[in-house]
Amino acid sequence: MAVVLVTGGTGLVGQALKHVIDTEPEGSKYGKLKGETWIFASSADGDLRDPAQTLAMYEKYKPTHVIHLAALVGGLFKNMKYKLTFLRENILINDNVLHASHTQKTTKLISCLSTCVFPDAVTYPLDETKIHSGPPHESNFGYAHAKRMVDVQNHAYKEEFGCNFTSAIPTNIFGPHDNYDLEDAHVIPALVHKCYLAKQNGTPFIVSGTGKPLRQFIFSRDLAKLFVWMLRDYDDVEPIILSVGEDEEVSIKQVTDAIVKAVGFKGEYSFDTTRADGQFRKPASNKKLLERLGPNSGFQFTPFEEALDISVKWFIENYDTART
Ligand code: NDP
Repeated sequence: MAVVLVTGGTGLVGQALKHVIDTEPEGSKYGKLKGETWIFASSADGDLRDPAQTLAMYEKYKPTHVIHLAALVGGLFKNMKYKLTFLRENILINDNVLHASHTQKTTKLISCLSTCVFPDAVTYPLDETKIHSGPPHESNFGYAHAKRMVDVQNHAYKEEFGCNFTSAIPTNIFGPHDNYDLEDAHVIPALVHKCYLAKQNGTPFIVSGTGKPLRQFIFSRDLAKLFVWMLRDYDDVEPIILSVGEDEEVSIKQVTDAIVKAVGFKGEYSFDTTRADGQFRKPASNKKLLERLGPNSGFQFTPFEEALDISVKWFIENYDTART
């Protein structure tokens, strides 16, 4: 019987996978197969930095398939401050999961990289061939190098042992169960939280930067469906970018307008243009994804505003228990 173990099952992406598996009909394209068991593990099931606890988790659940999402994840500030911690903990987590997947004879392993791992000096759009073609940005080199090593290890496990290991490269993710910590959140959850507080407190909503930079955002539940597709249909060691198209970039101003609407904020909002913007664009190509899905896949990304509305509603309804 197939057992799919999702590491990091309590996080943003893990909970989106749980939602998809719980709500899509059994046997349907993104649903679970008949007789298949899905386990959504958290760090309470075992600390994956520790080889013995990782092995114990594999011996307990006996996964035939693993979707490996667990990672030490954080925003810019945390990445800059704790470079060695990000490097070492992610190396340990990934090495333990890959090794246990090999020794415990897991038939398929999909790990999760990120577009932050790409070189700093790179030609755009990003594509799957450019991961190792130069050093990553110095602000997150610990996280980036640890994640890049997964791709190196996947190739080595395949060449030496024939393992069916691969990896996905998502762009910026948002959705229910995100991290809304004001100090450490990614741009969408941080702005949602700020806007919500401005509404509650009757204070101005001030957004850092000019609002002009463009980004590709993927809704966590769309990403979750793509992970299920990879599990069923993608057997290639080479990584694959999971993203909306380059023509579906949205500006931070568009993001802010959608948040204001979803939160129902009626006050004034403004951009603090004295604050840094970051890079104007860093587009990633989803050409390979569209080719592999094929013209008849029927897969559609949720429109940005609709996805944002779902995420904001979730945050407001779960404010007391969300990661703030
Ligand atoms: P979250 O921070 O929301 O969740 C992290 C998950 O990892 C939690 O389930 C956490 O468990 C688990 N975890 C962390 N440390 C350990 C450990 N030592 N042992 C066992 N489990 C652990 O992450 P996301 O869902 O946002 O990210 C999922 C993946 O996607 C990651 O690999 C990340 O690098 C990647 N990614 C994320 C992006 C984003 O925008 N968020 C963008 C691109 C890639 P617990 O709840 O018990 O702490």
